[in-house]
Amino acid sequence: MKAHDGMYIDGEWRPAAGTDAIAVVNPADEQVIAHVPAGTADDVDAAVRAARGALPAWAATPPAERAARITALRDVLVARKDEIAETVTAELGSPLKLSQAVHVGAPIAVAGSYAELAASYAFEEKVGNSTVHLEPVGVVGAITPWNYPLHQIVAKVAPALAAGCTVVLKPAEDTPLTAQLFAEAVHEAGVPAGVFNLVTGLGPVAGQALAGHDGVDLVSFTGSTAVGRQIGATAGAAVKRVALELGGKSANVILPSADLAKAVNVGVANVMSNSGQTCSAWTRMLVHDSQYDEAVALAAEAAAKYGERIGPVVNAKQQQRVRSYIEKGVAEGARLVAGGPEAPRDQGYFVSPTVFADVTPEMTIAQEEIFGPVLSILRYEDESDALRIANGTVYGLAGAVWAGEATEAVAFARRLDTGQVDINGGRFNPLAPFGGYKQSGVGRELGSHGLSEYLQTKSLQF
Ligand code: NAD
Repeated sequence: MKAHDGMYIDGEWRPAAGTDAIAVVNPADEQVIAHVPAGTADDVDAAVRAARGALPAWAATPPAERAARITALRDVLVARKDEIAETVTAELGSPLKLSQAVHVGAPIAVAGSYAELAASYAFEEKVGNSTVHLEPVGVVGAITPWNYPLHQIVAKVAPALAAGCTVVLKPAEDTPLTAQLFAEAVHEAGVPAGVFNLVTGLGPVAGQALAGHDGVDLVSFTGSTAVGRQIGATAGAAVKRVALELGGKSANVILPSADLAKAVNVGVANVMSNSGQTCSAWTRMLVHDSQYDEAVALAAEAAAKYGERIGPVVNAKQQQRVRSYIEKGVAEGARLVAGGPEAPRDQGYFVSPTVFADVTPEMTIAQEEIFGPVLSILRYEDESDALRIANGTVYGLAGAVWAGEATEAVAFARRLDTGQVDINGGRFNPLAPFGGYKQSGVGRELGSHGLSEYLQTKSLQF
């Protein structure tokens, strides 16, 4: 695959400061498809300087002009959508149809939404005798994961550019090729030099250098809770803004009045999509005692159908991690009704779509984020029991509630400690704020709430 051997800094591809490289592997066949440079603190420093240099002019650029550049960026993503989808498939392993529909479709929608918001947002408001100006926070250090390689980038870069911030991006080491394509798109869209910069590299080297850099005003991170905690501590010590989008262990609560077959089938599809590598996936299905056996049978049947359609997980380490969780589920007494720890193919980092029944709330597989195609089905006695189980993890990112009437589902959803709830299969909304309660994170992405993360206020009194 095509790869740049440098960093995109100040509007051009520059040689990396060091000589180390990262091998990019196709998880479907374990072949090395490209190499990208492993950035050092020197590369990060050069990128942050470029971003600082570009900040005053970009912050002063009228919102309509910033909107025009984001529209142009969206248009380049549309024009190059096939190439991007193929690249995502090559480095993440997702089936091509999923790459086209979700991995490219969602970020195009999000970029479009920020083009509109940049043009229409009220960057000034009157409060009594004050005028409040909403000004860009400054230089953003964006650190992104591999699970939705382009979406995670666009969900940070588009609102940052709309707000008038400049950006240094450190993408995940598993999916740097999509990030390089994004940098090309930014360039083609005519975004001024230095407004967006890309440094590929390892998390503990380039990522850590970016999170701790004095010239960064806001660190926006998506990834594991362990690294998020560390980044939050670094940002706190430097009194700089931080946004953290961390893990989840979302509940799919099926109330007795719901259409059981629909709720179970959509629930299984939600978990198996992207091979379970979705932080908001509904990995715990909660079913009433009276419907439990029927739900388990439906889920096992639905999961079996995914056997051939599912892609691999991203790398050997994740495959091993997920398989260890499945073994732990068995060891703790949960009942396997689909899949299991054995790799379904000799080549590629595949994991069988797996469903556990008889999972109890305190089991490891009901508490920890697995990040693989593994569903746990739990039993509840009544609504208060369901609520206690649903809220009984350290996470609170997303969830779902199903009931005969939406009002019944809404009443339950209002009691969930979580940032998003899909009612009776409600669709993804690129304008709805996305982010976590509890240890699922700090801050929100997407829509106007996502934009406000990149703004700070200045009040003038008259
Ligand atoms: P990670 O947190 O290690 O990596 C995410 C990003 O942070 C990558 O760009 C990485 O290079 C960078 N990073 C790593 N260490 C860093 C450090 N010390 N300082 C600064 N940046 C650093 O996540 P991972 O290893 O790719 O995945 C592990 C687990 O994280 C998964 O199993 C899953 O539970 C979780 N995860 C969550 C999401 C999400 O969307 N919430 C996404 C991916 C992974």
